[in-house]
Amino acid sequence: MKYALALVNIKGLGVKTFSYLIPDEMKDKIQIGQAILVPFGRQGLINAFCVGFSGYLPGDFKVKKISKILDEKPLFSIDYLKLLEWVANYYCCDLVTVLNAAIPLKLIEKASKTEQAVEFVKFDGATKRQKEVLEILQISGKMPLILFERQAKTTRNTIKKLEELGCLKITAEELYRNPLDILKITEKEPLFELSPDQQKVYEGIKNKAEGNKTILLHGVTASGKTEVYFKLIDDTIKAGKNVLFLVPEIALASQLTKRLAKKFGTDDVAIWHSSISDGERYDVWQKLYKNEIKILAGARSAVFAPLQNIGLIIIDEEHEGAYKQTNPAPRYDARVVARKLAEFHNCPLLLGSATPDISVYYRAVNSGNLFELRKRYNDAKVPPVTVINMQEYGRAAYKNVISKPLQVAINETLENNQQVILLINRRGFSTFTQCQACGHVIECPNCAIPMIWHAREQRLKCHYCNHSESFPDFCPECGSDALKNSGTGTQKIEQYIKELYPDKKVERIDSDILVRKGEHIRLLERFQKGDIDILVGTQMIAKGLDNPNVTLVGVISADASFNLPDFRASERGFQLLTQVAGRAGRGDFAGRVFFQTYNPEFYALESAKSQNYGEFFEKEIAAREEFDYPPFSQIIRLVLACENNFRAEKSAQEIALRLCTMVEKYGISERLEVLGPTNCVIERLNGQYRFQILIKNKMDEKGHRFISSFLNKITMPKDIKLTIDVDPLDIL
Ligand SMILES: [Zn+2]
Ligand SMILES: [Zn+2]
Repeated sequence: MKYALALVNIKGLGVKTFSYLIPDEMKDKIQIGQAILVPFGRQGLINAFCVGFSGYLPGDFKVKKISKILDEKPLFSIDYLKLLEWVANYYCCDLVTVLNAAIPLKLIEKASKTEQAVEFVKFDGATKRQKEVLEILQISGKMPLILFERQAKTTRNTIKKLEELGCLKITAEELYRNPLDILKITEKEPLFELSPDQQKVYEGIKNKAEGNKTILLHGVTASGKTEVYFKLIDDTIKAGKNVLFLVPEIALASQLTKRLAKKFGTDDVAIWHSSISDGERYDVWQKLYKNEIKILAGARSAVFAPLQNIGLIIIDEEHEGAYKQTNPAPRYDARVVARKLAEFHNCPLLLGSATPDISVYYRAVNSGNLFELRKRYNDAKVPPVTVINMQEYGRAAYKNVISKPLQVAINETLENNQQVILLINRRGFSTFTQCQACGHVIECPNCAIPMIWHAREQRLKCHYCNHSESFPDFCPECGSDALKNSGTGTQKIEQYIKELYPDKKVERIDSDILVRKGEHIRLLERFQKGDIDILVGTQMIAKGLDNPNVTLVGVISADASFNLPDFRASERGFQLLTQVAGRAGRGDFAGRVFFQTYNPEFYALESAKSQNYGEFFEKEIAAREEFDYPPFSQIIRLVLACENNFRAEKSAQEIALRLCTMVEKYGISERLEVLGPTNCVIERLNGQYRFQILIKNKMDEKGHRFISSFLNKITMPKDIKLTIDVDPLDIL
């Protein structure tokens, strides 16, 4: 081959490929996926990736020569590039955006440099602030310079000064090592013994696990899904193939990696997530590409790691929103990418959850690839749930927030020196309208989505289709005049509880607190130690808390979970209530759970009370079908933002109109339904007014291509920012 295609990233031009002549001396060495150096116009020499070869030029022009191969070890294969191209098409974004997310571009720079390390020498002569920086180094003695800079939150200048003072030494040596070595594992642990239930499920999955298919393992919390995963991993690596194992969070990925290393050995296992150091990433990337890793555990971004020869992909807690990247682009969902990756490798994708995504469950049922573990391991008991009808207690409740039975339960719990979790699932920016007499929520007649009260305009609005109404005088369901806009924030509830229990320790965790870094972890640690009697918080306290002294969980307004303006609100509410109920009574003492609601007969609440996923699924899927929501369609969201409210709205209207005209012209308005434009629920963000257009796509990937090519023809004015989100997590 005479020419190489180089993928370059040029400011203003974006990612492009250009042809370069391969010099004779490089002909035997050059490979796809290598980082190379090429001349580019006035910019001089720039970094590029080799992405292809050809024997001729597409036109009659002169080409320049490749200057250098930066690293002989390739960083990816051609199949890998094909996967990224598919992701770019699916998410309606360009390849550079995907490349940026997938391949740490620092890899190119790293390829030609040695890592610098720092070593602690002494404290003498350093100022107070410098000593603080040195303390970080003293603990580990020696560490990579970049890592030290980040962990000590210091600058290169400070480090240089410290070197001049002789307090530390900078060396140029390779400090890469296997981070799992610190586990000092000498002997592998045997695999778990499976219970008869687990054995049955394991055999069922194994019989199906040939070729490419998506399999769902639905197992109630603590039913022992992990043991089944490990057995399947063992089979896969014994068959000479590799395993990718994704979990929703970095902390979980670290725990999982340790468990995997204990069972399968440290040399075959690696970890991948956004917070590992550049050095570690470089090492792991090389090992993966050379097929030296058998099991890769990681969070969302690990789906882009170049693991070879994959025989099984596992995604645990598949319902978690963390698998979807919301910002910045590419707004990919690791589950969707993994499905494609499994197709490339012709291997099964195994999804696991106690509360599966409705669409995933639907597909698994229809394809006959659903497996269920219905019993908890060791037959552990689920705590009993009491539903409190606030229509009866509303007026008698403390400040309309805490009902009598919940108050009594809190008192009893505190008297026994046990702890309480109170959950409020409310975000300050959305207000639904509910009848306090019958629990009815005012919804849009077109979309079945709760309408939101806009105080400024004195109207109820639908944020899907822009339908609006004045505030009704009477409840359309029961005729009562008890319609009210819901709205009590976490801060207020914390105050009420403090008033009610002046000598108890009450603390609050929500996203406001999260802004102060580390506060979240400190509060959870204090709660774990028993320093906090009542923890009040939003959905983030529902996850992960495993405090055996918590025997009471109260959900202040269960309705709020179900009435976000989103077609997935019932699903999210069901998942949240099911999870939070599992936080009570994890130790020796029995737990109790209370749901407060104005709508006790709501199907999702009833199913959450009895922890009956199947029952919830039947009702939810019927509602989705009626209004053509996923899995019967797919949502693509366009957001237009501008500092000028009028311009934002006008451009949204223009785009919606042009899109509708196009859709009509091609006769596909039935299969590509355009809703809006409407204000976003968060109307203004970072000084920008926001409008959205929602598209219900029933044409699969043809719909994506249609939207992409439509948007490619549009030139957006500079002051207007367009964001495209395929399968958005919410429409706030
Ligand atoms: Zn009513
Ligand atoms: Zn509507």
